[in-house]
Amino acid sequence: MDAAKGHPRVRVLHIDDEEEQLMFAKLFLEEADKDLEVVGVKSFSELLEHLDDSVDCVISDYVMPGADGMELCRAVKRRHPVPFILYTGRGSEVVAEAAFKSGVDDYVRKESDPSHYQLLARRIRSHAENYWNIREQTRYQHRLEDLRSNLHLLTEASTMLNVGETTFDVLSRIFGCDEGWFSVVEDGRTTTVLERGLHPPSLNASDLAEMTEVDGAYMFPLRIDETIGVIGVKNGKGFSSQDMRLMDTLWLMVAQSIHRINQMETIRASEEQFRSIVENVQDIVMLTDSTGAITYISPSVNDIFGYPPGPLKASMWGDMVHCDDLGKLEEFYSRSLKGEKGSIKEYRVLTSGGETRWVSHSWTPILKDGEVRVVVNAINDITWRKSTEEALQVSLDELEQTNRDLNDFTHVVSHDLKSPLMTIESFTSFLLEDYGEALDDVGRDYLGRVMEASGRMTGLIDDLLTLSRVGRKFTEYTSVDMNRVVQEALDDLEAQVKKSGAVVKVHPMPEIVAQEVWVKQLFVNLIGNGIKFNESKPPRVEVTHRDMGDSHYFEVKDNGIGIPEDQRGLLFKVFQRLHTEKEYPGTGAGLSICKKIVESMGGSIGVESQEGFGSVFYFTIPRNLPIRAADAQVSREVPASNLGKYL
Ligand code: ADP
Repeated sequence: MDAAKGHPRVRVLHIDDEEEQLMFAKLFLEEADKDLEVVGVKSFSELLEHLDDSVDCVISDYVMPGADGMELCRAVKRRHPVPFILYTGRGSEVVAEAAFKSGVDDYVRKESDPSHYQLLARRIRSHAENYWNIREQTRYQHRLEDLRSNLHLLTEASTMLNVGETTFDVLSRIFGCDEGWFSVVEDGRTTTVLERGLHPPSLNASDLAEMTEVDGAYMFPLRIDETIGVIGVKNGKGFSSQDMRLMDTLWLMVAQSIHRINQMETIRASEEQFRSIVENVQDIVMLTDSTGAITYISPSVNDIFGYPPGPLKASMWGDMVHCDDLGKLEEFYSRSLKGEKGSIKEYRVLTSGGETRWVSHSWTPILKDGEVRVVVNAINDITWRKSTEEALQVSLDELEQTNRDLNDFTHVVSHDLKSPLMTIESFTSFLLEDYGEALDDVGRDYLGRVMEASGRMTGLIDDLLTLSRVGRKFTEYTSVDMNRVVQEALDDLEAQVKKSGAVVKVHPMPEIVAQEVWVKQLFVNLIGNGIKFNESKPPRVEVTHRDMGDSHYFEVKDNGIGIPEDQRGLLFKVFQRLHTEKEYPGTGAGLSICKKIVESMGGSIGVESQEGFGSVFYFTIPRNLPIRAADAQVSREVPASNLGKYL
């Protein structure tokens, strides 16, 4: 009997060797439950004849000729898992316990009062219904397993189109579907790809979200987020509720399976893409596991270190590292295994041939549930860069030394040149003072020229000395009030200002960190030039400051003669002058001193000018200069060997 189909008739096999008992039981049981159908048998062989799928329950007396009820129960259950009720007048707790151990499902005592048949009928029905449920469930499981084992047939390819003939073969075997069709839904449009004796009805398939019945045909959607296909099936016998459940489950499994295949295909394609990138980059890409052992290393390890990638797997990267640098690798092992990202700037690795190469190494651990699953390492061969850097450093050191020597040389030579020059100047003036009368005009003129020339030379040497001093390490950086500094520069220029009648306007100045002596020199030179190279009446010079965020910006603007555009590039070169000594006196070192001062503090200098109208000299000084005391002044004697180069 099938409860699911709404036929709750229960077929009962009753075995008893007494005819009378069989008769009474049938009469009273069928009376107690109209839907019971009781068939009486008198022997075991007769029972076996009737024992088939249609039997829903067996009731048996305890004592039967040749066998007791328990043995009977075991024999019945071996053939058919139908409920077995022991129905006997004999009984005790011991009998009941033995009965349950043999697999008997229930134990009902025979009474003389016929009312006990009501109890027996209720027990029969309850066991039978339970049995139907279990049977239905078991059948469902078997069919599900059958479907599962056929799933690969339904989803062999990664596309929907394989829901074709094979699918229908499986459907007809498991569900007995004799007719059907299948349509693919793409961009809301339905395309029928298979018809087996049945036409799909016109329907908006993309809206179909669950099973629907139209004219006895059942339509099931295949859904992965949205409906991607619809299958229609018909079966002459109709579908049971279990069929429906199974069919629903089947399409869910097919959809999931197709989805999984598609996902795997996407993953495989992206993995292939990444692999080809990884295998073509010059860096070494290495994967290590949670113990630090290599699980993958890209083929570039062969190009760089001569190791074949395969055998390196499972070994430790540290095995290849130069023993003096193993300590640096500790950081990698300890931090990466804690899940921390990091990098090591440089360490040495030995090639298979025993050579040393420099690498930089960065890593990123990939975690799952807080545990390090894999560490992705990028190892970059920096040997070339390292040797270039080293060579560059040697050149820089040499250059610095040369510069120092040159500065020292200039300093020493200028210094040494000054004393003979002072002797020339002193003796010339003595000559003029004491013997001037004894000379004629020409003689005195000659001596005057000697005085003038040695005066110019003193100026030149002073400038050279200044140039060699700018930027020396022993210069102090302090907090400087620029208002005061500019004022002091103007004090130095007092005579020039007075003589020319110049008007110098100074806007409010900031307090900055700088080398005080040199910023004062800057303003002396720039303001001095603004007055000197100026024919306007009166000459005007304006000093302003602007805050540029990272740096201070200063401007010295004049209304002087201006500078031709093609000559501006020459101005900051040492001893470059655009005018003769007669036109405007000077040495041509002022602006190059300014440039050296500004650059030694990390700033820059430039000029804008309009010939005949004036010039603007501007310079910057970085804001972040640290206050720094002067280094102890060291004796900077130049070794004779170095001096030789410049003489
Ligand atoms: P010096 O003033 O001793 O000649 P500088 O190095 O200070 O040397 O200047 C180099 C040259 O730049 C000057 O000879 C002059 O021709 C030009 N120059 C400098 N400042 C100005 C200015 N404010 N206006 C016009 N020309 C200038």
